[in-house]
Amino acid sequence: MTKTIVGNWKMHGSLGLVETLVPAVASFAARTQSKSEIVICPPAPLLPAAARRIEGSFLSLGAQDVSAHAEGAYTGDVSASMLAEVGCRYVIVGHSERRAQYRELNETVKAKAEAAIAAGLIPIICVGEMLAQRESGMAIRWVSQQVKECAPSSGQFLLAYEPVWAIGSGKVPGVAEIGEMHAHILSLLPEAKVLYGGSVKAANAADILAVAGVSGLLVGGASLVVEEFCGIIGMTR
Ligand code: PEP
Repeated sequence: MTKTIVGNWKMHGSLGLVETLVPAVASFAARTQSKSEIVICPPAPLLPAAARRIEGSFLSLGAQDVSAHAEGAYTGDVSASMLAEVGCRYVIVGHSERRAQYRELNETVKAKAEAAIAAGLIPIICVGEMLAQRESGMAIRWVSQQVKECAPSSGQFLLAYEPVWAIGSGKVPGVAEIGEMHAHILSLLPEAKVLYGGSVKAANAADILAVAGVSGLLVGGASLVVEEFCGIIGMTR
């Protein structure tokens, strides 16, 4: 099955990074005949420049968030149709940073995913437990509830299992824990493609990609460094 490798730049980068990183990743993917789908998700103002750089390559473009509303008086928000118009194919929704910092609830995440689907985008719906939930044996129950409450009833979407305690921390669950959670998510949604995210680097990507039920990776920090991101993509051949 084709693996999907998504680079989430978060609020990092610049037009300069678009001009250097995007062509470097595109030419690496072409040179190595990568079979994976590679998605770059820069901050919203950089999307049009990234779209121009991606044109004619194997790369796809994604955004990091989207409004649940189609249009209206929502200052600062960006609609799904606007993202589609500038060339996005994907959009991340429900990232734990948005859940924690902007108090996004499962119902908001679901509404965003449905707005994305209605505009022809593929949402990448993030779920994952906090450290206290993992330590108290509640991880599976928590993630199950997120999956059930966030998944749209129809349309194409991806899920990304991202343990909150693994994001940006350098800590990664064991492959057995990753496998257990992916198997559980797939028991709820057997057709789903489920990515893993949380401190993925070139050095651990192969082991994680080899876990049953892992259909790809959502990469944060390492997606900003050409060698690291290409190293991760290189593991999917
Ligand atoms: C993320 O931002 O979704 C992420 C997984 O970050 P990092 O790879 O830096 O842990």
